[in-house]
Amino acid sequence: MKFIDIHVHKHYEDNKSVLLINLFPTDADKINPARFYSIGLHPWYVNQETLTKDLGTIVQALSNSNVLAIGEAGLDKNIEVPYIDQLKAFEQQLDIAEKYKKPVIIHCVKAYDDILSIRKKSNQSIPWIIHWFNASEQIAVELVKKNCYLSFGKMLFKENSRAFRVFMNLSLNKVFFETDDTGISISQVYSKAAQVRNISLSALQKHIKNNFNNCFGNVL
Ligand SMILES: [Zn+2]
Repeated sequence: MKFIDIHVHKHYEDNKSVLLINLFPTDADKINPARFYSIGLHPWYVNQETLTKDLGTIVQALSNSNVLAIGEAGLDKNIEVPYIDQLKAFEQQLDIAEKYKKPVIIHCVKAYDDILSIRKKSNQSIPWIIHWFNASEQIAVELVKKNCYLSFGKMLFKENSRAFRVFMNLSLNKVFFETDDTGISISQVYSKAAQVRNISLSALQKHIKNNFNNCFGNVL
């Protein structure tokens, strides 16, 4: 059974893994029909002048059946892009996601309360995947209740991180794993996760494959 890397920017050759490659709108011409993608406007690159064009590019890319998700999109309180502009770009992408029934890969830095409150008030049903999840257990529980998945990677190797503590108790039906170009391999992430949860690697692979099919509609 394969490893699923739910968030990575650069394609890598690995016949043991399935990748969900993140594209920015400027990369839309790189779509290869043999690979899976998410496409979205990252908060770092939100620009009022190109927003309409970028959103148009995203919608157009969604006509490829192998473009499975919107993202990464989200909110980041550590950067200089005006927060109000980030919010506008994020909410517009959420509307596109709901309209085209595509899950969203979410980038969140210091904005978990806002992500959660947007999720609660939007009443959206399409799953969100919070990539590089690193927040409190309370936030995790609430997001999961609202049909969100949490994705873990390098932080699982930091046993005093919030990510690690959350992962220890999280339902495996709401988990994904990722490399996010951090230099770690997806099989290393799975092995670490299987070890800390005390289950076999193959049982863990089965869980994540089910999650992938539940989230994206039986593509594997
Ligand atoms: Zn990323």
